Amino acid sequence: MIIIKSDRDLEAMRPACIVAGAVLDEVAAFIEPGVTTQAVDQFAAARMKHHGARSAFLGFHKFPCHVCISVNDQVVHGLAGPRQLQFGDIVSLDVGVVYNRYIGDTARTVSVGGCGLLAQKLMDVTEKALYEGIAQAVPGNRVADISRAVQEYVENSGFSVVREFVGHGVGRSMHEDPQVPNFVDGKSSPKLRPGMTIAIEPMVNAGLPAVKILNDGWTVVTQDGSLSAHFEHTVLVTEGEPEVLTWPERMLSKSRAL
Ligand code: MG
Repeated sequence: MIIIKSDRDLEAMRPACIVAGAVLDEVAAFIEPGVTTQAVDQFAAARMKHHGARSAFLGFHKFPCHVCISVNDQVVHGLAGPRQLQFGDIVSLDVGVVYNRYIGDTARTVSVGGCGLLAQKLMDVTEKALYEGIAQAVPGNRVADISRAVQEYVENSGFSVVREFVGHGVGRSMHEDPQVPNFVDGKSSPKLRPGMTIAIEPMVNAGLPAVKILNDGWTVVTQDGSLSAHFEHTVLVTEGEPEVLTWPERMLSKSRAL
């Protein structure tokens, strides 16, 4: 069942998404060579507390960390630990917060001090694919129009989209209907309607799309060891242009430049 948010719901949800975007900004700025993923997780927890929010991920299906930190060939759901980030790594940071009883969910891949050309292209393509998907989040379209836009942009750029994990509706629960795949599967797909809030989140591999889960039960990695990137925004379908709820103010000019 797809939950349509009322104006009153959105009054509560908008600030949750702004907090998620702000925490992601802060955590991204904290990334530098030598820092451990455990320190990143603790920093994220402190920033959430500062904003009066809490992690939407900690304890979700028993997830043990405050944010997901996925390095290089790790796709999503990476766990914090003693690993030190190295110059040239790329790190996918996924932040979900609960605030006002609503959830904001947003992710971004950043480099640790800089990275190689392939990694940079992978991040650029994944971010642009997210915006291609967001542009399709208008009434009259179907979820599959988002999926198609993401998949075509990624594959035309020579990369691949992950099949096993998908975007989702989000609100008071982290995973609401509908699912928002980053690929077209030929199944019937719901129509987009004003008031729907969805997390659009391309997970893009530099190599083949196949992934596997490590023995920790959480960390998803590419099967071929290739790099992976992940960008995500929580988006509101309106009567007109989509509203990106997890966009901190300063990112607006960047999106227009892309
Ligand atoms: Mg998500």
